[in-house]
Amino acid sequence: MKTIDDFNFANRKVLLRVDFNVPLNKDYSISDDARILAAIPTIQKIRKEGGSVILMSHLGRPKTGPEEKYSLIHIVKHLSNLLDCDVKFAPDCIGSEASALSSSLEAKDVLLLENLRFYPEEEKGDLEFSKKLAALGDFYVNDAFGTAHRAHASTAVIAQFFSGNKCFGYVMAKEIANAEKVMNNFERPFTAIMGGAKVSDKLLIIESLMEKVDTMIIGGGMAYTFFKAMGGNIGKSLVEEDRVQLCKEIIQKAKDNNIQLLLPHDSITSNAFSNDAVIGEADNMQIPEDMMGLDIGAMARKTFFDAIVKSKTVLWNGPMGVFEMSNFENGTKAVALAVAEATEKGAFSLVGGGDSAAAVAKFGFEDRVSYVSTGGGALLEYFEGKALPGISAINEE
Ligand code: AMP
Repeated sequence: MKTIDDFNFANRKVLLRVDFNVPLNKDYSISDDARILAAIPTIQKIRKEGGSVILMSHLGRPKTGPEEKYSLIHIVKHLSNLLDCDVKFAPDCIGSEASALSSSLEAKDVLLLENLRFYPEEEKGDLEFSKKLAALGDFYVNDAFGTAHRAHASTAVIAQFFSGNKCFGYVMAKEIANAEKVMNNFERPFTAIMGGAKVSDKLLIIESLMEKVDTMIIGGGMAYTFFKAMGGNIGKSLVEEDRVQLCKEIIQKAKDNNIQLLLPHDSITSNAFSNDAVIGEADNMQIPEDMMGLDIGAMARKTFFDAIVKSKTVLWNGPMGVFEMSNFENGTKAVALAVAEATEKGAFSLVGGGDSAAAVAKFGFEDRVSYVSTGGGALLEYFEGKALPGISAINEE
């Protein structure tokens, strides 16, 4: 894996793909700058050695072209403060002005290009578009893990124009190293914890992880399709009828391969999807008709906790319940605590892929797990065993 530590950037003009897709308030101020902060070490390493940096990113989901609310100009001031330099801005990511600005860059200068997704060519992975971007620099660094699973112009296609002159930035390098450790260098017992709303989103990752783990824990809304598959009465709980058969197959596969498949024995139930409804507890094979399971119950919390703390490797993706509502947060909290305790006892724990990262942050466990990934879909696809275009494009010569 080639990283920016393998190169010296003196006099180089580095095209750096970052993920500056930050949330903006109504007045266009930045409400969470974590993604910008994450990219600073990579930018500064290049500048320190006397290189100049051309930053490329997307922001939001513009539909047909430029939209004020998705302009990267809103982050120029904050970025300038963080880097302690005047960041230049190209109001079009390609074209004569971007070229002129790029040509005028001196050592340590930073140029931010306007939102790449103002061109539909970006997401289409258009070759001509990526060629125009490539012409702006003489070295390519990818530091945007969140889009590594997309074969977009700036994340993958562009890399072919930089043979021998391309590498990963620090964010990408860290994400890949941690994911790699869990995927290929894990210690046993290895426990995967899968949660979240829909089993259909997680089937591929469950199947892929079944090849590796000792224990597979399944919680959250997706667990009820498994109980349906076992002939349970799940009341009004979330279910995906068209996935019942696949859940049966997973249960069988776990038996055949001697994998401990832990499903939640019980649930905290509610008569409505609300924090202010009638709340109960039920065995997951016998949830009353008018109730739905919105969190794992006390027995499941204990079983899951005991399995997790014994593990040496833990991968956690997806909450155990509707953790956004206080009445249904205890299952996710218990799992977060178990992952933290396992980590304190020497386990390597990776949390990521969307809402579980948010849950860990909400309950204050961020510093008590080994690594919280910034990647949602990218992390999922990595553990599904797919090659991520953003990674392959750097590794190919
Ligand atoms: P995902 O994005 O698939 O990881 O799903 C995360 C979402 O699943 C969160 O917003 C949770 O509120 C939701 N969720 C978790 N458990 C349940 C459940 N038992 N019923 C409905 N939604 C749930």
